[in-house]
Amino acid sequence: MRIAVFDDYRVGIVDGDLLRDVSDSIPERDTAWPWPWVPRLVARFPELRATLETAAARAEPRPIQSVRLLPPTPWPGQIVAAAANYHEHAREMAARPGSTQAEGLQGEIFLKAPASVVGDGATVTLPNLPDREIHHEAELGVIIGRRMYQVAEADVLDYVFGYTCLMDLTVRGRGDRSRRKSYAGFTPIGPWLVTADEVPDPQALSVRLWCNGELRQDDTTRNMVYSVAELLAYASSVMPLFPGDVLASGTPSGVGPIRPGEHVEMEVSGIGRLAVEIAAAPPGSPLAEVGLGVRPPL
Ligand code: MN
Repeated sequence: MRIAVFDDYRVGIVDGDLLRDVSDSIPERDTAWPWPWVPRLVARFPELRATLETAAARAEPRPIQSVRLLPPTPWPGQIVAAAANYHEHAREMAARPGSTQAEGLQGEIFLKAPASVVGDGATVTLPNLPDREIHHEAELGVIIGRRMYQVAEADVLDYVFGYTCLMDLTVRGRGDRSRRKSYAGFTPIGPWLVTADEVPDPQALSVRLWCNGELRQDDTTRNMVYSVAELLAYASSVMPLFPGDVLASGTPSGVGPIRPGEHVEMEVSGIGRLAVEIAAAPPGSPLAEVGLGVRPPL
């Protein structure tokens, strides 16, 4: 099942180019910020699935192009992300002058701000960082379906709700990942969630990204250093993961700068395509400085 969030936080089931609005069949759907009903929908999906299917069968189909898609996880509790998780990407990062991302950091995880999430078709306004490159990273996004903590690797995929496309936009260079990857709009997610039953092997998916139509990233999830299952086992050995939480599973090689005016589009095979437009920081906007410099102790 393909589940999209659209317009005023309505919910639709996607079927090809058509979308069927099933919002009114979802209990406790509250469209007020911070949208906690999406994790509730994920958590209760096994019992709600038949209701959603019935509602979709009754709903009038409409072209998906006629709606404004929103992030299918508008307010994830956590976004856990894998560092340098494709062999070729780890090599390209280690080769960058002054790289802060050595091969030795492979297998590590970090957090992105949930507030950095935007949906398909969003415009990402770059922060005012004149001396920094801001890069695209196309990734397979994994949505947690059930609370999981210290789950054995052999069992972790049973806790996955589904998959989506995810861009881990990144300010390159010095500074902590959590800050460099958490600016507003730096985590496009979508265009919808695809439930795990439609993705039998998350290690057999192609991941591609284009900037203005030019193919920049092209690899398969088979070339991850650590599999989705290994990453989830590791992450859940550290922190409990909850329904609606997101794992960003790392990016293939080919990362590079995004610039104002560009159209950035990615695809995960069997999932869909996610696109954003890149805009410049408004003139006179404050410097979105990375690194506060050395401060005297408080
Ligand atoms: Mn990444």
